[in-house]
Amino acid sequence: MLDGRIYNFSAGPSMLPEPVLLKVQQELLNCGGSGMSVLEMSHRSKVFDDIINEAVQDVKDVLNVPDNYKILFLHGGASGMFAAIPMNLGGRSGSADYIVSGNFSGQALKEAKKYLKDARNAGSSEADHFNHIPRQDELTLNPDADYVHVCWNNTIFGTTYKYIPDTGNVPLVADMSSSIMSEPVDVSKFAMIYAGVQKNLAPAGLALVIIREDLLGHEMGITPKIWNFKTEAEKNSMLNTPATFQIYMVKMVIDYLKEQGGLEAMKRRNIEKARILYDYLDSQDFYKTSVNPADRSMMNVTFRTGDDELDKEFVAGQAAHGFSNLKGHRLVGGMRASIYNAMPKEGVEALVEYMKEFAAAH
Ligand SMILES: *Cc1c(COP(=O)(O)O)cnc(C)c1O
Repeated sequence: MLDGRIYNFSAGPSMLPEPVLLKVQQELLNCGGSGMSVLEMSHRSKVFDDIINEAVQDVKDVLNVPDNYKILFLHGGASGMFAAIPMNLGGRSGSADYIVSGNFSGQALKEAKKYLKDARNAGSSEADHFNHIPRQDELTLNPDADYVHVCWNNTIFGTTYKYIPDTGNVPLVADMSSSIMSEPVDVSKFAMIYAGVQKNLAPAGLALVIIREDLLGHEMGITPKIWNFKTEAEKNSMLNTPATFQIYMVKMVIDYLKEQGGLEAMKRRNIEKARILYDYLDSQDFYKTSVNPADRSMMNVTFRTGDDELDKEFVAGQAAHGFSNLKGHRLVGGMRASIYNAMPKEGVEALVEYMKEFAAAH
């Protein structure tokens, strides 16, 4: 890491790869020979048109997206999609099933209830404080629903799906905000994948949407124009001025991921990083992690000492060790280390050293 930079364990916005930041800095005054910054550039220009087309192609390339899917870049982040999804996909029967595995899936359900007459909680691990992902046999799915919604990686609780729920013929929609591009995904198993880009791809404010074409065109009349998936697909996400800098950053980050060996390489590295932390957690009893081992997230690792005062002391000591953002989410307490693609292995090793030191001192 460059001098003066620290290991930032933030859940989002979070670390971006340094080589990308340096390249962006280099291009900031003159992007693509245009004599201007991407920040100053018309979204109708040839240079920007190339940028958005490359960003779309990059997403398709790294995720092996089948030809019958569209890539959209929409305003409002993942939470915007919590509203846009029922409006766009729930217009037929007005019924949708939500699997509630944590805070964000609960929020998505709450938003859907505003627009659908029958947005159902189809299975939840809330009674167990979201310490696991609901299993297939814990779900009661409606075979006539317009779609089933899941949150793939639970950023706050530190759990993730290791199986793809069987929804029969009902389209499966997944919020992959905190796991997108961390490993390969079989896109064909999902009708729609979406993500707020600030966890693993770019600055905040943008939603990346990957959607199967047959889902387009069933929106409700009240759907805001800028969130009409069909129109946005026809307009290459440029119905109005898109989030140009974020889209440019998505392209830059994915170009870098490709150079690094793509998502297979990311997966290998992410498994290795997560293993360093979980192996340590499993080897001792000073820190506890309440997550079901089979559902552990590779991206967000939650742990606690069991003593709130000690947790506070642990978090207070982070800056002196060159870390930030290790405090757990207010709903969970304790600590959380978010270790997305851009977190180097050395950062995780340094964190485990600090954990050992702190445990020995207490
Ligand atoms: C961060 C996050 C969100 C919220 O994203 P916004 O872009 O802030 O709306 C939603 N879902 C998941 C899984 C997240 O990690």
